[in-house]
Amino acid sequence: MTEYRLLIGGELVAGDATLEVVNPATGQPFVTVPRASPRQAEAAIAAAKAALPGWGATPIDERRARIVALADAVAANADALARSLTLEQGKPLPEAQGEVAWTEGYLRHYATLDLPDRVIQDDDQGYIAVRHKPLGVVVGIIAWNFPLLVACWKIGPAVLAGNAIVLKPAPTTPVTALKLGELCREIFPAGVVNIITDANDLGAHLTSHPDVAKIGFTGSTGTGKAIVANAASGLKRVTLELGGNDPAIVLDDVDIKATAKAIFGNAFLNAGQVCLAVKRAYVHEDIYDAMCEELARLAQEAVVGDGLEQGTSIGPIQNRAQFEKVQGFLETARRDGKVIAGGQVLDRDGFFIAPTIVRDVTDGDRIVDEEQFGPILPVISYADIDDVVMRANASEYGLGGSVWGRDVERAAAIAGRIESGQVWVNQHIAIGPHIPMAGFKNSGLGVEQSVEGLAEYTQTQVVNIAR
Ligand code: NAD
Repeated sequence: MTEYRLLIGGELVAGDATLEVVNPATGQPFVTVPRASPRQAEAAIAAAKAALPGWGATPIDERRARIVALADAVAANADALARSLTLEQGKPLPEAQGEVAWTEGYLRHYATLDLPDRVIQDDDQGYIAVRHKPLGVVVGIIAWNFPLLVACWKIGPAVLAGNAIVLKPAPTTPVTALKLGELCREIFPAGVVNIITDANDLGAHLTSHPDVAKIGFTGSTGTGKAIVANAASGLKRVTLELGGNDPAIVLDDVDIKATAKAIFGNAFLNAGQVCLAVKRAYVHEDIYDAMCEELARLAQEAVVGDGLEQGTSIGPIQNRAQFEKVQGFLETARRDGKVIAGGQVLDRDGFFIAPTIVRDVTDGDRIVDEEQFGPILPVISYADIDDVVMRANASEYGLGGSVWGRDVERAAAIAGRIESGQVWVNQHIAIGPHIPMAGFKNSGLGVEQSVEGLAEYTQTQVVNIAR
């Protein structure tokens, strides 16, 4: 059986304690992994700090080459990584394979990003250039929905910019991150990448540590706010990718079958546990019944099961706490609206909920106002465009939003009125390493991806020479 180890200072080490990891498809532990103590978190930060001078002075092309090597290693270990993703996270194996392929692609793209010195004056009076310097020790803290991809969203830009990182996965999905640690050990100098696990107890320590310069966080809005508070006394740089309650506005001129299929796919990917999933569908009253019917048909057709079984299209909820939270949403959905597909927990072991479509709900109902983060989609009727835009924007969140219509110009004009970091027309969750990703309001702080995201892992320095 595989022995998992933490990665601290270039060494694979046992944890001071252990952690059992549950397979959400069975509800039973399937592996024991190390759990780092505060002492080991301290050692990881010290190792990162010690690695900084050497790594920061390493030529950028060499740093790029290491990131490409990590992409190669991810590709070479794709089968094992995908299998462990399905085992710990629950997603169907083809989705896990997709996550591994995305991870490789993101890393390859990061390796091409460039933040060259920018000369803003060079004349008789003087020379002024703007540079981007490494920040120092970065802490990356992530959620449990994309344990491999999001780990690399932190590691790639952080180390390309010349920082060293301590990455901490979510306690319920540490396995793939530890496998990634084994790969990183072969590729990066000691201390540049450190990977430690916890039982939800090291976050405050890591994010308030005086030797940490920057925190890259993906997770819930509540934890994001706690991190900002913790980081405040040290004025640490913080990038937050938080929750969302993405609206999809469906106009009256759509092709109903095709649009329902696309919206269903973007609502139920990873059993709805995607920050950028469609979480509220606003459908024009003229096509409301037909759209609800089609969405319900798709939900009934979906194959819910163990992600390792061939043919499964929707896996379990990732962990028991989220499973219980989503059951609470099911109750309020039954109370406030009409459940036309799903609506129940599956009668089997594991954390399974049948994909659920709820109609006849509206703004003010909990299932519409709050982020479900599970396989439930509320479908809301509207009559007036100004009204639906107002309702779409009446949220504490502003991560993504989409408008669906045959008349693309009309749809794009409406999309431009949605208050969210990304607005799409006739698509949703369309993201990439070259596309800045940001959130309005309680959905985040700062930008990830692209050169803009990379810049957030650097300190701007002005060099100003008198002549
Ligand atoms: P969470 O905030 O509870 O946990 C995320 C991570 O934070 C975990 O690693 C956890 O151990 C750590 N953590 C917990 N307390 C901490 C503290 N006080 N200080 C520092 N770290 C701490 O989130 P979750 O429930 O695991 O994830 C679900 C949420 O994450 C959803 O709201 C979802 O929308 C959001 N999310 C957002 C994105 C995005 O990119 N915007 C991506 C995935 C998930």
